[in-house]
Amino acid sequence: MAKHETKTIEQVLEEASRYLNEEHTTFLRLAYEYAKEAHKGQVRKSGEDYIVHPVQVASILVELEMDPATIASGFLHDVIEDTGITFDDLSEEFGEEVASLVEGVTKLGKIKYKSKEEQQAENHRKMFIAMAKDIRVILIKLADRLHNIRTLDHLPEHKQRRIANETLEIFAPLAHRLGISTIKWELEDISLRYLNPQQYYRIVNLMKQKRDERVYYIEKVIDEINDQLNDVNISAEISGRPKHIYSIYRKMVHQKKDFNEIYDLLAVRVIVKSIKECYAVLGIIHTCWKPMPGRFKDYIAMPKPNLYQSLHTTVIGPKGDPLEVQIRTQDMHEIAEYGIAAHWAYKEGKGANNQENMSKQLAWFREILEWQSETNDAEEFMESLKVDFFSDMVYVFTPNGDVMELPSGSVPLDFAYRIHTEVGNKTVGAKVNGKIEPLDYKLKTGDIIEILTSKHSYGPSEDWLKITQTSQAKNKIKQFFKKQRREENVERGREMIEKELKNMDLSPKEVLVDENIENALGRFHLNTLEDLYAAVGYQGITAQQAANRLAEKIIQKERAVDLEDSIKEVQQEVETRRKKSRGVGVNVKGIDNLMIRLSKCCNPVPGDEIIGFITKGRGVSVHREDCPNIQHEDDTRLIEVEWETGHQQRKNYSVDLEISGFDRNGLLNEILQVVNESNTDIVAVTGKSDKNKMATINLTILIHNVDHLRRIVERIKHISDVFTVQRTIQ
Ligand code: MN
Repeated sequence: MAKHETKTIEQVLEEASRYLNEEHTTFLRLAYEYAKEAHKGQVRKSGEDYIVHPVQVASILVELEMDPATIASGFLHDVIEDTGITFDDLSEEFGEEVASLVEGVTKLGKIKYKSKEEQQAENHRKMFIAMAKDIRVILIKLADRLHNIRTLDHLPEHKQRRIANETLEIFAPLAHRLGISTIKWELEDISLRYLNPQQYYRIVNLMKQKRDERVYYIEKVIDEINDQLNDVNISAEISGRPKHIYSIYRKMVHQKKDFNEIYDLLAVRVIVKSIKECYAVLGIIHTCWKPMPGRFKDYIAMPKPNLYQSLHTTVIGPKGDPLEVQIRTQDMHEIAEYGIAAHWAYKEGKGANNQENMSKQLAWFREILEWQSETNDAEEFMESLKVDFFSDMVYVFTPNGDVMELPSGSVPLDFAYRIHTEVGNKTVGAKVNGKIEPLDYKLKTGDIIEILTSKHSYGPSEDWLKITQTSQAKNKIKQFFKKQRREENVERGREMIEKELKNMDLSPKEVLVDENIENALGRFHLNTLEDLYAAVGYQGITAQQAANRLAEKIIQKERAVDLEDSIKEVQQEVETRRKKSRGVGVNVKGIDNLMIRLSKCCNPVPGDEIIGFITKGRGVSVHREDCPNIQHEDDTRLIEVEWETGHQQRKNYSVDLEISGFDRNGLLNEILQVVNESNTDIVAVTGKSDKNKMATINLTILIHNVDHLRRIVERIKHISDVFTVQRTIQ
């Protein structure tokens, strides 16, 4: 991967001046000065002045040849979030366009969320909404993410992994969706380096070994094509196509192919002046070398949804091996590399063509928002987004030959609802390629779908929610139930909520008072209790979610019992249980007779810094001082505790470890062996492996003290392909 030099402000402005006039670069300098002043005194984790980051973000936007407002916003993108500057300040200084762009990339900082995931999902949702208004928001966001991921080295490992995962799940697919391949590839390659460093470096090394041989053949092929094109007076730019580490990796994992099978495949790209020449070149290549059947694709006549255009073919090349050829014009090439940014690229007097393409590109963002307007839950929003837009796609046809793009796994019903809600609701069957197929038939690229409808249809059945794949179809089906069966749903919802409350040992009468109802309605953005029943009835909200919200205040009150009472209670219990209790090796300072237990969440062991927490009725639970579960607890309930000395070797303490590594044969066995060899008991073990072949193994082991634990962790870390070993907290 290319090393990226840190650019100075002068370099960035110099590069911008190649396509912007002086007035613009002056404007950019002002934006820079303003941001520099605002971030004064702030430093990045690397120790650099903070302003270095916005300058690099602006520099990436200059590489994409963006307009002045976008670049200025690149300089200013963190000022609302991280300094005292407000939207109005920016608006006054640089105009509303810049202020709105910066506002669009600003995270929702002030609101409190229950969990990190919820906050993350809300931030993403906000970003998508801002994006639908102005696509440049996402270009700034992508530039921001690109620079951040280039400089991840200074963060702790768990953050690196989180950011790399999020990048692969959201930002790389987004860049792909917008056709910005250059950014997409870099995001993917760097993410892989953090998520699976061993495989990453293995591929890099294999590529290095093969480079000379490859370059030799590519040059030979390029010479041959050039000779042929010279004969017919076509001048073309021909180059070998770089292979990206992540795409090789994906093919190795998903298609179970060997590195050599993927990397030996030669690929060249031919760039010519006109569409006519594209087809001419194709003809010539097919005469020189034998085309492989089924490999020709005409993305010029039928562009991909991200507007990518090219001719693709594979022929049997001079080495007797397959040779992939892409043929396109310079314009198409720019779109292939820079996607939507190519349309935004700053040119005086932009053509109408660009505008039209832009609005095509934006159509899917608007669709997301429209389909999602029913969804109140941000996490659900992101989940369905991942399915609808970022998963693999199939391309199917209407009987009229229109192409429709659907997430893979879609069924004819998804197709029907994509055409029209009424078509979906009245569907009674489907013909695929002229043959009747069941409604849960999984669509394949190239299928021609005809939906059979009937006026007499009773509408969707409940099963449809299970077999459909797109959130659009699911939402429409839920809407149908919501409208058609409101009364039924209200009744059912009421029963479900009341049952749930009884399960929680609460009487519905006691819970269903105005205060609690209002609390729940506010949370779900609903207006009446009947709405809430109906929502539970048609399963938009689970009965458990509803009941939890309704009972929230009651449960909080119960928790807030008087401290003295609980200590008294504890002491009484202790009297009776004391003899049975074997002791855990912890003393509470100043108080005797307390029942003490080690918390199950963080499993402290002798040597850890610890603190006691006075629970209601169950004595004192001892946590590690850094345990997140006690960080927000009431101080009056925390109590100093200490390890008893001298007992440490006698007792066993259970500890949870999480080990991550590359999922190869025998990894688990080696880990278990190392633990056994150190005479440590294993209480539980679970493991899983994700799509990146990243294995996560959870072990619960019995240890004597922190030194013992440290020794085991060290030994596990020495096993090859193990990346991290962590003590986990539940
Ligand atoms: Mn930033």
